[in-house]
Amino acid sequence: MRSGLQEIAMQEIRKKLLGWHDKHQRDLPWRRTRDPYHILVSEIMLQQTRVAAVIPYYQRFLKRFPTPAALARARETTVLRAWAGLGYYSRARNLQAAAKQIAKHGFPASYKDALALPGIGPYTAAAVMSIAAGLPHAAVDGNVRRVLSRLLASHTAAQPEADVLLDQARPGDFNQAMMELGATVCLPRTPNCEACPVVRHCEARRLGQVARFPARKIKRETEDVRITWAYVERGVERGVERNRAILLQPPKPDGLWNNFWTLPDILLRDAKLIARVRHTVTFRKIEIEVYSGRLTRIPSGLVFVSLKKLRQLPLATPVRKALALMLNPVVIRSRSGAKPD
Ligand code: SF4
Repeated sequence: MRSGLQEIAMQEIRKKLLGWHDKHQRDLPWRRTRDPYHILVSEIMLQQTRVAAVIPYYQRFLKRFPTPAALARARETTVLRAWAGLGYYSRARNLQAAAKQIAKHGFPASYKDALALPGIGPYTAAAVMSIAAGLPHAAVDGNVRRVLSRLLASHTAAQPEADVLLDQARPGDFNQAMMELGATVCLPRTPNCEACPVVRHCEARRLGQVARFPARKIKRETEDVRITWAYVERGVERGVERNRAILLQPPKPDGLWNNFWTLPDILLRDAKLIARVRHTVTFRKIEIEVYSGRLTRIPSGLVFVSLKKLRQLPLATPVRKALALMLNPVVIRSRSGAKPD
């Protein structure tokens, strides 16, 4: 291995890290199972989402879809509704596509077969197959890359270094130990080196240059997006409600919120600004202005949806935010109990 980590040092790192993990690992629901499907669900949810936010979703999702077969036969809208609030919805679609293949052919028996599932990259395939099946593949996510970069004082440390360091006897535990170290001790800005089980072998620490590793990424510039939506409701006359309904745009296959219901982007007469909603998705800062006004005829493709039915639809998160400003939030909370994020 580069940067002078000898086999003897690597053996000690493996031993210390596993010992530390056995003692200090957090009690997380996906660590109490070896069911490969459950581990797959947790790993997909944990991509780009914090552990604390994932826990309730993971538990609800597996209650609703306890097996690959249950997820495979669910309607996509039901799956998206269970995912609502977690964001990055392509993960939910890919997970369902993967579940269809697993329900048909069984869970992959090798890393290569896992990699062939929809939406599964090298990290997820290595994490799932090492944890669930004990296969020796190093899982390298952002946390692991940071730990490696500091241990070796290297700006390029990645998969090859992780493969060499991996504990062959306990690959799943070792992968989780590296992730856990990055998530709880070797933090991006304030690493707690005093509590680190491998401090003796950390080259960046020895050089007094922890802050230099890993090199900071150049942030992608944010893109400002402005959107105008119309809010049209019917069924309320002089304060009395009868079959109250909101005009909505059914899911479109393209655009920012594909496969989700949104408010419509149409022109109204005597339009009046009634709400402003801000929402951020990765590098996009979205500002949505919601107008009310008069509509002379309903444009084709749009439908009035009753308040009762609203809660059954996969609504884009900013639509939930906008409607929450105008309706009782209870009405638009999804059945799964997910809150708008
Ligand atoms: Fe990270 Fe500090 Fe441990 Fe090095 S000693 S791996 S910088 S926590």
